[in-house]
Amino acid sequence: MLNKRFRVICIDDLITGSLKNLAHIDSEDFKFINHDITEYIKIDEKVDYIFHFASPASPIDYLQLPIQTLKVGALGTHNVLGLAKAKRAIMILASTSEVYGDPKVHPQPEEYWGNVNPVGPRGVYDEAKRYAEAITMAYHRQQGVNTRIVRIFNTYGPRMRKNDGRAIPAFITQALKGKDITVFGDGSQTRSFCYISDMVDGIFRLAQTNYHLPLNIGNPTEMSILELAKKIKSITGSSSKIVFHDLPVDDPTVRRPDTTKAKKILSWQPRVSFEEGMNKTIKWFKENINGEN
Ligand code: UDP
Repeated sequence: MLNKRFRVICIDDLITGSLKNLAHIDSEDFKFINHDITEYIKIDEKVDYIFHFASPASPIDYLQLPIQTLKVGALGTHNVLGLAKAKRAIMILASTSEVYGDPKVHPQPEEYWGNVNPVGPRGVYDEAKRYAEAITMAYHRQQGVNTRIVRIFNTYGPRMRKNDGRAIPAFITQALKGKDITVFGDGSQTRSFCYISDMVDGIFRLAQTNYHLPLNIGNPTEMSILELAKKIKSITGSSSKIVFHDLPVDDPTVRRPDTTKAKKILSWQPRVSFEEGMNKTIKWFKENINGEN
C-alpha cells in the first residue's frame, strides 16, 4: 500500500506479532498504534480502506489464546465495522479456509457451508471467523457498510515466526537445524500453499471490486503434509529425519480452494510456483535462523 502512495496506519497489540516485521519501513506515510481492537478504536483522520487481519491464526496460537481469538473475531470485528461505518470506509475482512472445517466437499467452493466442530479446540478460531463473516454481511445488508470477505487458504513466505507452529516454518526450521521434521498423523492430510505476494495481489484486487460475498484466495496446488516435509528436506539438502507425531484434534483431512470465482471476478491466479516461493522463504529463514522466535 505504501508503494501505491497510500498513507498506512497499522494497529496491532503484538499478541502474536513483532515490531521487527516493521523495522524495514522508513516512511512518513506509516504510523503504528499499539492497541487491542477488542477495545474502542479511535482514529482522528480520514480512512478509505480498513484491512481487518487481526487474530491469532496459527493453530498453536489459537489453542493457547482461545478467549482472545473469540473476542477479536467477535468484538474486534464489531469495532472495525463501526469504524468503517463512521468513516465510510471499505472494510476487508480476513476470513479463512477454516470456515469449511474438515470439509466433505473437495475442493471447497464458496457456496459450501462447511463441517465445523463448534466445541472442539479449533472451534474458537473457526467459529470466531464464521461469526465475523456473519456480522460483516449484517452490517453490509442492514447498514450499507461497503464490505469484502476474503477466505484466505494456507499462505507462507518470509517473516513467519520460526516457532509459529505452522507446518512450513516448523519444517524449514527443523530442516535447517538438522532436527527431526515433525509430521503429524501419517502425513496423508493435504493442504494447498499460496505464496504471500500472490495472496496480497488477490486481496488488493478484491478491495478494488464491488464484490461483497466471501471469496476464496489460495493456490490450488495440493500436496500431502508428508510430501511437503520431503520437499523441504530435499530443497534444504537436510539430513533431518522425518518423524511422526499424533494428529491434532479435528485437523482437516483435505484442503484445496476452488478459485473459479477469484479468477473470474479478479482476473487473478497465483503466479509464484511452490519451488520459487519455497526458495525465497528458505533463503529468508537461513538468513534469520539465529534471531529470536
Ligand atoms: N503439521 C505437521 N507438523 C507440524 C505442524 C503442522 O504435520 O510441525 C500439519 C498439521 O497437522 C496440518 C498441516 O500440517 O495437517 C498444516 O498445518 P498448519 O498448522 O500449517 O495449518 P492448518 O492448515 O492446519 O491451519
